[in-house]
Amino acid sequence: MHTAKITNFFMKKKYLLYFLFLAIFFLLYTFIISQIKSHIKLKENNFNYFLESDEFSNIKKYIFENLNSPYKEFNYIVQNNDTIEKILKKHNVADADINSIAASVVKKKLSNIFSKTKVKIIIKEESEVNKIVSLSYVINAITTVEIKRIKDGFDINEITLKLEKKEIVLSNTIKNNLYSSAVEVGIEPNIIVEFANMFGFEVDFQRDIRSGDKFEVYYETYIDEDSIVRNTGKIIYASMFVNNKELSLYNFKFDNVKGYYDVDGKSVIKTLMKTPINGARLSSSFGMRKHPILGYNKLHQGTDFAAPTGTPIMASGSGVILRAQKYKGYGNYVSIKHNSTYVTAYGHMSKYGRGIKKGVRVNQGRIIGYVGSTGMSTGPHLHYEVLKNGKRINSQRMKLPSGKILSNEARNKFEVDRIKIDVKLAELR
Ligand SMILES: [Zn+2]
Repeated sequence: MHTAKITNFFMKKKYLLYFLFLAIFFLLYTFIISQIKSHIKLKENNFNYFLESDEFSNIKKYIFENLNSPYKEFNYIVQNNDTIEKILKKHNVADADINSIAASVVKKKLSNIFSKTKVKIIIKEESEVNKIVSLSYVINAITTVEIKRIKDGFDINEITLKLEKKEIVLSNTIKNNLYSSAVEVGIEPNIIVEFANMFGFEVDFQRDIRSGDKFEVYYETYIDEDSIVRNTGKIIYASMFVNNKELSLYNFKFDNVKGYYDVDGKSVIKTLMKTPINGARLSSSFGMRKHPILGYNKLHQGTDFAAPTGTPIMASGSGVILRAQKYKGYGNYVSIKHNSTYVTAYGHMSKYGRGIKKGVRVNQGRIIGYVGSTGMSTGPHLHYEVLKNGKRINSQRMKLPSGKILSNEARNKFEVDRIKIDVKLAELR
């Protein structure tokens, strides 16, 4: 009984609390409403005052005049598949202007526009159609095209940022992998890719690299007035200290043939690459293994490289495409005949490289397709085979003939160039 009384008391108190909350809420509500009302009134007063002021009549005049202005400016963002012609048509520009501008930019090779870049258009409205006053758009990192109407036609100008060539030397010690250690010291991604390609014949980036290995790269950059790198040029020299030995490569051009050579004047390029793909992991080597789909032991007659779908696959050597189509369990498949001895083959591609078809001649490094998982495959990877006289061999163990060694006149010129590069290197380090 006693407990019931207490509960009752608390129940009563609870209602009292509810009431109190309601009262406070109501008071707050009326207060806020009255504040808002007075605020609106104040604003109205201000606005009336503003309308009567000289300032407003000036603004009114300005807006009115501009609304009537025949000149209009647009900042158009380029969409996929846009052309200068299409963009001007979208803005209802007179056909005569479109034809004249389109023909001139094509002739001057200034018609390449890229999606997501901006086109600034100023037009003048004239009896239902628009006439171009001026037009400007960006065609690359350093060039803007400016088109202005002149008396009879259009004046087309190419405005290029003034860039200065600056050679730099960057080096680092590898902690995790080459890419992150190169990014750490500010090397541009395209230079890193080229660097990796240069050493791709000698260094297996998956297995040879140890923490503590070193690299150095000497290359050209192009900087603007604010010292910002706008573009990169060629790699002049690069070296890697890996597997306890140093390999230095020099950029050398002779008789219009350029390449990278070691200190002895030996070309770095070999007939075939061991790894025709960048950034892949060797996931299954040549030899006996339990087949992941068939389930029984079978000789794996190639090398598998695991990589994300879409990773480019390169021709591991120059040659002629023998086949570029679906082939048995290989899925989308490409094979290349390099010479009378060697053929390489690539399986499970998601798609083929541009222009890759039977009979086409390809150079080493050309993108022939992209990693996928077509055919008999459990996940995205490249299945790579090297056939020597028709017999599949272990690509990772093959001893291939090295590139040529410079001799005579070429060798003499190389020695001179190499010393010059060494001197510059010592200066820039
Ligand atoms: Zn395989």
